[in-house]
Amino acid sequence: MNTLEETKFLMKKYKIRANKNLGQNFLIDDEVIQDIVNGANISKEDLVIEIGPGLGTMTVLLVEKAKKVICIELDKKMIKILNDRFIAYDNIELINQDVLKVNLKELIKQEKENNQIKNVKIVANLPYYITTPIIMKLLESNLDIESITVMIQKEVADRLIEIPSGKNTGAITYTVYYYCKSTKIREVANTSFIPMPEVISEVINLELRKEPAVKVANKKVFFNIIKSAYMQRRKTLLNALVNTGVFKNKEEGLEILKKLNLREDIRAENLTIEDFARLTNVFCERIS
Ligand code: SAM
Repeated sequence: MNTLEETKFLMKKYKIRANKNLGQNFLIDDEVIQDIVNGANISKEDLVIEIGPGLGTMTVLLVEKAKKVICIELDKKMIKILNDRFIAYDNIELINQDVLKVNLKELIKQEKENNQIKNVKIVANLPYYITTPIIMKLLESNLDIESITVMIQKEVADRLIEIPSGKNTGAITYTVYYYCKSTKIREVANTSFIPMPEVISEVINLELRKEPAVKVANKKVFFNIIKSAYMQRRKTLLNALVNTGVFKNKEEGLEILKKLNLREDIRAENLTIEDFARLTNVFCERIS
């Protein structure tokens, strides 16, 4: 049975109708599944955390490659299928919860202590409706993980893996670049899923940096400045940061830009991550 036949068989057997509200688009393309799993570069010393395993299509390969797989799946019906499907395996654990509510830091700490795990890798065909909150959680929780290999909407993927100040840059581009080195693995047509999503997808790999890309005096201030600058990205950086209350007034802003040798009319998208780091550091010096 190929993956398409297997998916149809499981959906019929368990009377499954893909739940749109849970972003259920099941992968049916063997080549894509193989590319995601290969892209994650899994070894027998690794713990894989799979978010949203669904019917277990990718999980089948993951349990063979990894020391252990922890699946986090919100839909109870999927948990039932996974339980039946992997009954003979002793290296899989199922967590029936919203991934945004799972204490991943504690989970990983426990696994590393108890199971001689070398590396932790996140692998997922993510539900599109919460891609950004999941990625932000994975990056901002200071997790002891090696990499994140995910399939997401192409438009979002291109923004995440852009070099800051490149054409697809958004505030989140700086966050991803700060924490990770990223690679595009491949694009995926909507015909690779049932039901077909409306958008094209992309598989990306984010490898966590040992040290962040830049040194900043205060991480919270750094990301707040970037977010504020991008909130009004059509305006000049100066106006955007005055309007969002980062700079007390124009005079203060002008003084800071001058100190950094940045032009008065520069826009957020023209700043490199190093520029934002310098801006943060000068700003923090003034308020300390
Ligand atoms: N991995 C399967 C595949 O590739 O065929 C399914 C991928 S489907 C795009 C997304 C999966 O995430 C669904 O199984 C869905 O039930 C699950 N899901 C949705 N929201 C979730 C959440 N907040 N936490 C955990 N899983 C979630």
